[in-house]
Amino acid sequence: MTFNPDADVSDNKVQRRGGGRTAAIAGGGVVGLGAVVVLLISAFTGVDLTGLLGGGTGTSQSQQQGAGPTEGSVQSCNTGTDANNSVDCRVAAVSLVLNDYWSQHVQGYAEPGQVSVDGATSTPCGTASNDVGPFYCPSDQTVYIDPTFFQLLHQQFGAEAGDLAQVYVVAHEYGHHIQNITGTMEKYPNNGTGPTSNGVRTELQADCYAGAFIADMASQKDKNGVAYMKAPTDAQISDALDAAAAVGDDHIQQQSAGYTNPESWTHGSSDQRKKWFATGYKYGLGKCDTFAVATP
Ligand SMILES: [Zn+2]
Repeated sequence: MTFNPDADVSDNKVQRRGGGRTAAIAGGGVVGLGAVVVLLISAFTGVDLTGLLGGGTGTSQSQQQGAGPTEGSVQSCNTGTDANNSVDCRVAAVSLVLNDYWSQHVQGYAEPGQVSVDGATSTPCGTASNDVGPFYCPSDQTVYIDPTFFQLLHQQFGAEAGDLAQVYVVAHEYGHHIQNITGTMEKYPNNGTGPTSNGVRTELQADCYAGAFIADMASQKDKNGVAYMKAPTDAQISDALDAAAAVGDDHIQQQSAGYTNPESWTHGSSDQRKKWFATGYKYGLGKCDTFAVATP
């Protein structure tokens, strides 16, 4: 389990929003984790995703499934125990720790919005749903995550490893928020695809930021001085690296098409993603300039 049971995570601000399960593809400008969801879903064909949603004990409208639009905060998310037990709460609690972390590293840091997607919800970047996977929408500075995606990660990587893989995904999306508010996205506009494109460099930097956060996450403390999270074990790091490799463009192409086409890469190869996650983890944020090297 990733969180210290006694940690106070009640200050989390994640909103739950959605209703219905209509699928649509997110539009332009969206910066997601990659096509991992395609891979995961193809690996779990036949799973009834709707059954994985919710599972709370409350009776409020925001907990109902398929009962029209929902709006509200994540339920029962006050302690590290809640975060360890509920994927909804874990995502919200990781966001809380990420905001603490980034406020220490970026002057004038402004928190992104974060929406826990219940089924599907419309955004300025298109519809957010489990079919699209987690993404950051620059125009409304909001991270969109459907927690059912994390259930898939758990199944793919196992309970313990899955917890850290979840942290990696949320931290990666926050990395895009940092790139947005610090001007990196504007400075290096998306200029096509391929292993050395700005788009791939942007994704690899978000991986590096995620690695740096994970290396430091156990030092972030709640208002009582209790560390929110436990330091990752070597086994968890190894699994997070596997998760990074699984979302590499070459791996996804090999799985779905049987060949790889580097020129079409948007997120980087498995080796690139592992390398930059590990760079952030070992050396910290100062070594995350993926735009400064000839070959990222
Ligand atoms: Zn991304």
